[in-house]
Amino acid sequence: MANILVTGGAGFIGGNFVHYWNAQHPDDDVVVLDALTYAGNRSTIADAPRAELIEGDIRDQELVEKLLRERDIATIVHFAAESHVDRSITGPDAFIDTNILGTNALLKAARAVWLAGDGIEHRFHHISTDEVFGSLGTEDPAFSETTPYAPNSPYSASKAASDHLVRAYHHTYGLEVTTSNCSNNYGPYQYPEKLIPLFLLNALSGKSLPIYGDGMNVRDWLHVEDHCRGIEACLERGVPGETYNIGGGAELPNLTVIDRVCAEVDLAFEEIDGLADRYPDAPAAKGGKSDSLKTFVTDRAGHDRRYAIDETKARGELGYAAQHSFEDGLRQTLRWYLGHEDWWRPLLERA
Ligand code: NAD
Repeated sequence: MANILVTGGAGFIGGNFVHYWNAQHPDDDVVVLDALTYAGNRSTIADAPRAELIEGDIRDQELVEKLLRERDIATIVHFAAESHVDRSITGPDAFIDTNILGTNALLKAARAVWLAGDGIEHRFHHISTDEVFGSLGTEDPAFSETTPYAPNSPYSASKAASDHLVRAYHHTYGLEVTTSNCSNNYGPYQYPEKLIPLFLLNALSGKSLPIYGDGMNVRDWLHVEDHCRGIEACLERGVPGETYNIGGGAELPNLTVIDRVCAEVDLAFEEIDGLADRYPDAPAAKGGKSDSLKTFVTDRAGHDRRYAIDETKARGELGYAAQHSFEDGLRQTLRWYLGHEDWWRPLLERA
């Protein structure tokens, strides 16, 4: 596959993908295009052995075309996005600009370079979300690739629009695209505004754990390394024009996730020497329990009740299967945050 362009590779999933790709494909050069918004972080990929970070915007079509030509790139894995639902509620414009106009600019660049003349063998892989399918009732079947789109937040609406553009460039111009719709990711390098790192770090510093509504919103939790494996399977075995659902097989209400985070933090204080000195404000440092920090707050506007992923197609056609259980993945994630305070502390201070 040789040279590969990863957009948003200084963010959470993109950064994990860069490390994953370097480990699995050590002869490939990875070019990362990232605007380094609040969610992008140079240090996430600073030690990736074959990754070069270009600070730039996906909306800069000229820059993208130049990179594709000069670096001989025939694969794009497109992660760059505004990704936080709460931010889309308070300020939707950035979501329209990056997620819709940015994806269109990338597609235009790919078309201009890859489909010119006789064309070259190429692949544009687009990362989408299960949120484009809307909200499920408790008894509804999980989302499949043929579930109609029904996005409910400015974030999911902007992702849905970008998915449609990707599809249209395949049908109209013949661009070789694949799209994956994944569920909620967790793991190392996740910006501490998202549920799992937010709750882990709040529990360490004795801050409240704000739970939206009744805490019974259900999400399917996917370890980011499994997601990277699923994307690799799409690139290697996915059929152009097709979409694939990638899930983690761990459908859980938020309240259960929060209880498990609290239990893991308490366990870490029992097992790891010196944590009470490092985090003296944590309830667990004073013989208390992290779940004493739980606080119910007003629900998010338009909060989708349940997402669930049917990944039969990815299993059958790509051979994809998640390898991390939620229990192991959560423990590994907590231990990663405990070992990488140098990564997250500056982000908290900057925020
Ligand atoms: P993130 O917010 O952690 O990272 C996004 C990255 O994109 C950042 O590095 C940011 O600097 C970069 N970026 C933003 N605007 C840009 C622009 N205009 N040009 C270039 N770079 C820009 O996001 P994430 O959680 O890693 O999500 C990655 C992708 O996966 C997104 O497309 C998101 O919609 C999708 N997704 C995420 C999840 C999840 O659970 N995190 C779930 C489903 C789908």
